[in-house]
Amino acid sequence: MIVAERKPFNEIKEMLKDYKKVLTIGCGTCVAVCLAGGEKEVEILNSELIIARKIDKDPIVTGAFTVERQCDMEFLSELDAKVDEYDALLSMACGAGIQFLAERFPDIPVFPAVDTSFIGVNRDVGWYEEKCRACGNCVLGMTAGICPVTMCAKNLFNGPCGGTNSGSCEIDPDQPCAWFKIYERLASQNRLDNIIEICPPTDWRNQKPRTIMQPVYKERILA
Ligand code: SF4
Ligand code: SF4
Repeated sequence: MIVAERKPFNEIKEMLKDYKKVLTIGCGTCVAVCLAGGEKEVEILNSELIIARKIDKDPIVTGAFTVERQCDMEFLSELDAKVDEYDALLSMACGAGIQFLAERFPDIPVFPAVDTSFIGVNRDVGWYEEKCRACGNCVLGMTAGICPVTMCAKNLFNGPCGGTNSGSCEIDPDQPCAWFKIYERLASQNRLDNIIEICPPTDWRNQKPRTIMQPVYKERILA
């Protein structure tokens, strides 16, 4: 899932200082799971805004609405009849959702309430860990399911480097060396031949926004 963190309150308040009626829009999927931008977080943020602006003697009217996914136009259409009542939209979705919202309502200023952090996993309630940087060329099959792009400080596809030290990375003794872990897991699976083979330079595919069209839908999309 996409993991995000709510922005510091004062940053959000500053962005909205010129607006009197703001619709705060949550997203019911990734950011709800990581407790950054779901229905509950929308209510909490609105309450904070109302109180802070009241104290400043500059009251604000807030609306609240949470769609299932802001990265899906089908769900954004639920907002069509609501947004005209507001002079700004505050999105609690990830960067993709915020941009899709801004694309759907180009005449209304859209502001981000969260910082999109990474693609990660849910270790425990309130504890998330980065696992993937969407490189577009997944090598997990070769690396025993450990991502060298995310976990290795140098994003090495052929490791370890000379900085590995008793299982730790040279950048920080508390940071495990990705390639030490890859070695250990491959060894336990009797697959060490995977790291003896040199991995060729990666064809990085993230210099421009990427798109994917599933083949069965391609004809329809391009029609
Ligand atoms: S190699 Fe790592 S960054 Fe690339 S797709 Fe796989 S998990 Fe994601
Ligand atoms: S010590 Fe290991 S994790 Fe750190 S940069 Fe070198 S190979 Fe990557």
